[in-house]
Amino acid sequence: MKLSNNDNKQYKHLTLDNGLRVLLVNDPSSEKSASSLAINIGHFDDPIDRQGMAHFIEHMLFLGTEQYPNRGEFAQTISQFGGNSNAWTGTEHTCYFFDVRADKFADVLPRFADFFISPLFEESALFDERNAIDSEFNLKVKDDNRRIIQVHKETVNPAHPFTKFSVGNHDTLGDHSGSIRKEVIDFYNTHYQAQWMTLVLAGPQSLQELTQLAQSSFSKVSGSAKSKPPIAVPMYREQDLGLLLHIKPRKHLQKLIVSFAMPDIADLYRYKSLSFLAHLLGYEGDGSLYAILKKNGWINALSAGGGVNGSNFKDFNISFALTDTGIEYYEDIVEMLFEYICLIKDKKSSLPSLYQDKKRLLELAFDNQEVNKLIDWVSSVSVNMHHYDDDNVLYGDYCMEGFNDDLHEQLLGYLSPHNMRLIMIHPSATHESETINKIAQWYNTPYQVERISPDWLRALSNIQAALPEMLLPNVNPYLAHDNKLYEIESTAQVPTQLKDKPGFEFWFKQDATFRVTKGHFYLELDSEISITDHKAMALTRLFADLFMDSVAEQFYSAELAGLSYHLTSHQGGLTLHTAGLSSCQLKLASQLVEALQKQPISATRFAEYKKQLIRHWKNHNKNKPVSELFSILGAKLMPWNPTPEALAKALKNVCFNEFNTFRSTFFNSIHAKAFLHGNWQNKHAKAVQQQLLCNFASSEILEDLKKPLSTIKEPSVEFYTKENSEHAFVQYIQAPSHNVDDKIKIMAFNQLISQHYFEQLRTQRQLGYLVGAGYAPFNTRAGIAFYIQSPKFTSAELLEHHNNFIAEFVEHIDQLEQTQWEDVKSGLKSQIAEKDKNLRLRSQRFWVAIGNDDHAFSMQEQLLFSLQSLTFQQLKEFIIDVTAPDFPSITLQMN
Ligand SMILES: [Zn+2]
Repeated sequence: MKLSNNDNKQYKHLTLDNGLRVLLVNDPSSEKSASSLAINIGHFDDPIDRQGMAHFIEHMLFLGTEQYPNRGEFAQTISQFGGNSNAWTGTEHTCYFFDVRADKFADVLPRFADFFISPLFEESALFDERNAIDSEFNLKVKDDNRRIIQVHKETVNPAHPFTKFSVGNHDTLGDHSGSIRKEVIDFYNTHYQAQWMTLVLAGPQSLQELTQLAQSSFSKVSGSAKSKPPIAVPMYREQDLGLLLHIKPRKHLQKLIVSFAMPDIADLYRYKSLSFLAHLLGYEGDGSLYAILKKNGWINALSAGGGVNGSNFKDFNISFALTDTGIEYYEDIVEMLFEYICLIKDKKSSLPSLYQDKKRLLELAFDNQEVNKLIDWVSSVSVNMHHYDDDNVLYGDYCMEGFNDDLHEQLLGYLSPHNMRLIMIHPSATHESETINKIAQWYNTPYQVERISPDWLRALSNIQAALPEMLLPNVNPYLAHDNKLYEIESTAQVPTQLKDKPGFEFWFKQDATFRVTKGHFYLELDSEISITDHKAMALTRLFADLFMDSVAEQFYSAELAGLSYHLTSHQGGLTLHTAGLSSCQLKLASQLVEALQKQPISATRFAEYKKQLIRHWKNHNKNKPVSELFSILGAKLMPWNPTPEALAKALKNVCFNEFNTFRSTFFNSIHAKAFLHGNWQNKHAKAVQQQLLCNFASSEILEDLKKPLSTIKEPSVEFYTKENSEHAFVQYIQAPSHNVDDKIKIMAFNQLISQHYFEQLRTQRQLGYLVGAGYAPFNTRAGIAFYIQSPKFTSAELLEHHNNFIAEFVEHIDQLEQTQWEDVKSGLKSQIAEKDKNLRLRSQRFWVAIGNDDHAFSMQEQLLFSLQSLTFQQLKEFIIDVTAPDFPSITLQMN
């Protein structure tokens, strides 16, 4: 099997007698073990009169088996042993996975295996779980993605299984004839066969031990030699192509999707011909389709290559995020797309070298993979086992065997006007006389279907040449560097500060743990000017968006070279973050810092982004009273963090000239913090520091701008009203002080109460869907927030339920058992002590510490120490204190 350079795991493939294909993975560094089972059965297999069946089965398998009949037992066992479990149902596959403390793996695995041997499908569980599915469906009804896919399903060949309703609800899964249990069992027996399953077992256990576990647990899964019948009908008939769909979304979305129909090409994954084509069309540098359309003011974003796919179909989509003007010019956008396709045809001779670039990048990515959670990893591997040959199970996503001329030609052939569908998604999808107005089933999406005029299709087919300004990508300048690991220079465990120029901190750490040729660079710039008033705070955010937009073309090749960069706003200023391959990253970082001060920003982009940002802020909390109350709470506690509404108001009358003045004065006086972490040595860090000092030589250097925090002095209640909205309340209790002991007490309080709170007020009382208690720090001061949102009860009623719950909790607090305290303590301990899995997470942790002036990087140890010495009695007293009615708190209600 092809492995990455930094992969120290051992692997073994195995096929059990029943046909189940297994991959065993010995990972000596892991504290957990994990398993995932993927089966080649999905909603495409649903009986036509029982849509949602595969999904229903997925839910049911967790709810009791012959050996382990109790309904909640699996979830309980897993969480007791520090694990998680989940599952999903897709079109043609369903996947089940869990992880658990390694020493409990052998206890839990047979419980998991029994899902696939003897599930009970108990009558009462079937009944309850149908309700759960129905609620899941009711939530998804509001999801624009689902709403749009339903329109897709209704406009393709009705005989294709894609058209089926995947989630299911009361209707499709109802027990009309009293036979649902039998139908469920029949479906399970027919489809849950070992030869269609793949299984991954991973953990610190030896391969021999894992082999035994696989055999003893999974040999009883029934299997046969039967093979999976292929899908016999095409997704699109002649009449399903050449259509123009107008779809009206719920949220504000303006999008054009140009979709080309293709057969399934997954078998040809070794060449990545289609992703290479997507790479060319999605290019964003100079002369790209993206750059030209953006310059015309028609689009804000472009992406190529997405689209649904399955075992006999693949949609190849190019999708454009449209501006208001772009909606009017959609036909011109499509024409330019075909002109750009001509360019790809004309410049064929330059493609193999561009292919090599991309290949080199994927090889680098494969050899420098970062470790993810084991549970996520096993589930993706189990699915890959269905798509890739055994040797390529890990390498399949990265493999580019060579530029395949024939395949490239064949795929280009599909990018023709007659093989196309156009999908326009926009809020004002209007009713025109010649169109048919429809409402999609299940999701109630309004849409229209038109046939694209044959004249226009003919005109598009006649496009023979690219526009003169159109260009293909260049060979990537960021790939010119050698990517090697530097020798370790120092054994320091935490970052060190290079040179203490007041107001200009520079921290550095060479990574000695993960040893990948990658790194992270952070630069935080606080500016006095950005906190003057709400307008300045809004302008800071606009600056971040406009900057990202203005450098997109210039740095697109850096993104292709595995680098990423972001400029974001924070209270008091801007943060630049770059990440990715270390060899060329410092060049990028220095170019970005320079651009920050000099990059031209145009008046048209200013107008576009100002409009978008105001729209975003206004819609931000739409129909979400709990989020709105949290915004209000945040603004009350953090004066430099106004509500979206306040920001929208402040930005409304700003003109371009004002923005330019703001930008040019932003750097006049600043406070800077920087952090470099990864595959670099001291000399690199020194050079970056010198460069930064040069960049900001003319800025006045400020003392640290401390982000202000309001302390709550007394209990207060505020009321808000909102028309046509659900009701909600948020109650916030702030830790009595900044110190670590109070922080750990709040965390322990949250750990002790949140599960009960949810269980009581949501599951049992059914007060609403959004119910919770959560640890909520603001500007490093700890706190706990309680919230409920409900369509039925007023905020006063909700608050009464809440108060009763708290009163009862406190009244019985002395009856809480020592074992519960032990659970809280060990749960919290493992949360705090969790080791950083990869370079990214470690960088993040160090950077947060630098931001909080925790220069000893010791918050983790301090919290653990404080937790260790906390007694149950102290915690109880603390809880009684902070929940007393006269303790300072903020309560916000909305009706
Ligand atoms: Zn589900």
